[in-house]
Amino acid sequence: MNTLIEHATIVTLDEAGRVLHDASIAIAGAEIVAVGDIPPTFSADERIDAGQRVVMPGLYNAHTHAAMTFARGYAEDLPLDRWFNERIWRLEAGLTPELVYWGTQLAMIEMIRGGVVGFADHYFHMHEVAQAVTAAGMRANLAWAVFGGEEEVGIAIRDTVPFVRAYDGAAQGRLRAMLGPHSPYQCPDAFLARTAAVAVREGIGIHIHAAETAAQVQDSLRRYDRTPIELLAHRGLFETHTLVAHAIHATDVDLAVLAQKDVNVAICPSTHMKYGMGVPRLPEMLEMGVNVALGSDGAGSSTALNLWRELRLAVLMQRQARADATLLAGDTPLRLAACNGARALGFERCGMLKPGFQADLILIDSAAAHFQPQHDIIANLVWVTEPGDVQDVMVAGRWLLRRGRLLTLDEAEVVAHFNAQVQQLQRRAPQGPLQRYAVGESL
Ligand SMILES: [Zn+2]
Repeated sequence: MNTLIEHATIVTLDEAGRVLHDASIAIAGAEIVAVGDIPPTFSADERIDAGQRVVMPGLYNAHTHAAMTFARGYAEDLPLDRWFNERIWRLEAGLTPELVYWGTQLAMIEMIRGGVVGFADHYFHMHEVAQAVTAAGMRANLAWAVFGGEEEVGIAIRDTVPFVRAYDGAAQGRLRAMLGPHSPYQCPDAFLARTAAVAVREGIGIHIHAAETAAQVQDSLRRYDRTPIELLAHRGLFETHTLVAHAIHATDVDLAVLAQKDVNVAICPSTHMKYGMGVPRLPEMLEMGVNVALGSDGAGSSTALNLWRELRLAVLMQRQARADATLLAGDTPLRLAACNGARALGFERCGMLKPGFQADLILIDSAAAHFQPQHDIIANLVWVTEPGDVQDVMVAGRWLLRRGRLLTLDEAEVVAHFNAQVQQLQRRAPQGPLQRYAVGESL
């Protein structure tokens, strides 16, 4: 299938940051073959008049627990320890493959409608997620969450290796898969070392949480005489493609380690701010060359899977915290969500509109009133875009959303199945807290 999109404002997010007006983009199969100058030999099966609307790379959600849409609004206004112990662990005790399947589909509907083309997922029953993503046509990097403790949820790390082998590169390359040890605060130290050894031996990546709160860092220093980031480095977890979620409380030494080891970091501004976790050192990380991307985290914490909100909050929290209006200027927030996100997920030829890259793109209704005037289309995209402005979404050359209509997911069917599953889940939740999170005296 060859597609030609004409008369578009093309925000390429390429190295030069080019924005082309009244321009065309040619797509052959899954790949972009030309941007701007279309070769006369290109013949299109489908021609689309963009009517000067914006075409830009799709966004990549670099850290989420997609199926946790079931916990949306279930554990609000609580500190992290009570959020885990009193609400989330209890609800997850009744998790089933069916709930993960429908919960992930609900999340994908929300993400596709919001211009997200790929996501890094860290959860349980990941075969169901792989199946759902394959059918929906999105891109994803899947990590099966494991704790390495006695009360394992799901399966152990040795069992997740075959999962990674089976799905890394599957769905015509739209799927990547990694190991998913939960975090240094939940996993035994020896288990982390074992995970790193397996990852390096098998040549597979790791997706993990770390340094989310100041109390976690203090606890780690007390127990191991190392910060969480230092501990992960010491145990060998950064000797492969690693994606660290949060990394909020990074010391100068931690930052140097993240940069030197090419670690990918996913910050989740809504979750950081909502739970009062702190402000990540984003300007320093970018300055030092760390690939920082944006995640929504699960709907159980951030409540919404809205990357436009995340990219805006990423800027706002830094400028507010440092009283500096020049931070993260221009198209930087869009690059965090697009180019850096794709790289964090392990998709090297995604995240920019340029020949040879995958056709992962979105069309935005930039003719709407709140996009006028257009002194600076980049400023408008950063500061006013909401998920509802996204009209079309293409992943690997295939349309998933056209003129606001989902083509690969049946919203009414998904909502009905999902809500039925959530009702059953609530009936299964055990009484009383499950005390598995014990970090710091008082969080
Ligand atoms: Zn998370």
